Amino acid sequence: MEGIVIKSIEYKEKSKLVYLYTPFGMKSVKALDVQKTKLGFVTTLNQVEFQISQGKLPTVLEYTLKKSFYSMYQNMDKIGVLAPILDVISHLEEDANHTRIYPFFLEALTELENTEHPLFVLSIFLIKMLSVFGIKPELKSCVLCSRTSIVNFSISNGGALCDHCSTSNENNLAIYEAFKAFYYNKGFEFKEIKISYPTLLEAIYSYYLLHANLKLKSYKL
Ligand SMILES: [Zn+2]
Repeated sequence: MEGIVIKSIEYKEKSKLVYLYTPFGMKSVKALDVQKTKLGFVTTLNQVEFQISQGKLPTVLEYTLKKSFYSMYQNMDKIGVLAPILDVISHLEEDANHTRIYPFFLEALTELENTEHPLFVLSIFLIKMLSVFGIKPELKSCVLCSRTSIVNFSISNGGALCDHCSTSNENNLAIYEAFKAFYYNKGFEFKEIKISYPTLLEAIYSYYLLHANLKLKSYKL
């Protein structure tokens, strides 16, 4: 089995309980005698291949380290971005489509490792993950009446607003354009947006809170 270490906690003497995200969802695995033989298995953001014993709380028997993303914790700009990304992964439903989410998560980590725009990677990750939580915004037509003359975006209504339905003085058109560009972006192709990342992320965080009741960890250190 393959997985990425999300966190590990102390568990009895010399042992740890390791939580890994895998193509089959979250798995918790005991690692015995950590210091001698299992350091690579208990390090956060390590991608490992592993065999486990049978049973309800299995023990790792063997593992190989495929790739470590741990060094991102040495980059101040990236630590903050990792917190909400791991937060989203930890909040996935048990029956979510993990076989599709796992490679996307791995892709996000790879992008984050190489990018000079960590807030871009975070924004696109969070916007694309909205559909996993069943709260994809309506981006193609007005969320209230289905007209296509879009002039605004409503976080509380969960989508675009047309010129008839937009009554608010608030102009969220740039937020709408960023949501749309990122949601339909193939992978993580960098795109300029007309608003600042803190403004966009504030909108994304409100969206998660209102529609998924999920208060994400802050990306600000
Ligand atoms: Zn409308």
